[in-house]
Amino acid sequence: MSSAPSPHGTPLDEANMKFWYSDGNIVVKVERTLFKLHRHRLASISIYFEKLFASDTQSSYYMTVDGCPIYHVPPGLTPTSFGNFMRVLDTPIALIKGFLSEHEAIELLHTANLLCCPSVSDFDKDALAKHWNEDTLPDTRSGTPRTYDDAVAVILLARKHSIPGVLKRAFYEALSQPGFLAALSANPGAFKLPRAYVDRMHGARVELGRLWREFALRAPGTDEKGKSKCQKDYKLNCNRFEFDYKKQRLIGRCSGGSESRKLYWREIVIAHGALEDGAADPIRYNLVEVRKEELDKVWCNECLEAWEREWMRARSEWWKALDGLLWL
Ligand SMILES: [Zn+2]
Repeated sequence: MSSAPSPHGTPLDEANMKFWYSDGNIVVKVERTLFKLHRHRLASISIYFEKLFASDTQSSYYMTVDGCPIYHVPPGLTPTSFGNFMRVLDTPIALIKGFLSEHEAIELLHTANLLCCPSVSDFDKDALAKHWNEDTLPDTRSGTPRTYDDAVAVILLARKHSIPGVLKRAFYEALSQPGFLAALSANPGAFKLPRAYVDRMHGARVELGRLWREFALRAPGTDEKGKSKCQKDYKLNCNRFEFDYKKQRLIGRCSGGSESRKLYWREIVIAHGALEDGAADPIRYNLVEVRKEELDKVWCNECLEAWEREWMRARSEWWKALDGLLWL
């Protein structure tokens, strides 16, 4: 952008060259940025512009740039956001899906709302939903968790503008954050969340925690009755295994019997805090990964990998169950 608009504009104004159509017949001024556009097009997609052009009463009408009357937008719009608004209108949707950052998407939603433009608003809701995707499970590998302030802001935005697609992820990101429920209890009014939402989040957190605890108490390489599956295989096939002197055990086998391993597991899970760490964020908390060093001393890779695979399956089930727990 940026070139001084011709004569009748003020010297401080700048033209947005991307949206400066030579055959445009109006100029829209957003802060100090000017956009030369088509009256009919804007009127056809925005109720705000339709009414504005129909009335033609605003005081700036007598001002012109490039021979075109200047129109103003409602307070709160920025040149960047209005530029994005025009990009959505001008570029085929298939080509621009995903170009908006989350901040831009939120700002554009505000802009589309002020300009009463449902088509841009609908597009933007899809763009925002990509940043709070409910189809992909929260994962430590896909970036750091969001702050609960971000999550609450999106929940409120979704409620105001009816964007159900972002709620599941946003609810989970808030309720899995350390300190969120404590902060909520300490000052419920500060978050402006409806009582029903708070109740659902509490309920989901309690139930997810229960499911996790039930799952996490079983040591790797054991069956439902707590008997070692690893040692059983070892007894049948002991001749095949070589000794690992560094770990003081047979290669590819867990150390000790099922009872001693159960005790060691409980020590790690209960006494060393994994149970509560995982209960707070059971979809993302990969116990085998987080406690690998301690677990490696006792369990063979095969047993740990099997436990991790079971957790992966379980967390997919828990993620599905959240729909019901959060009443989505
Ligand atoms: Zn094993």
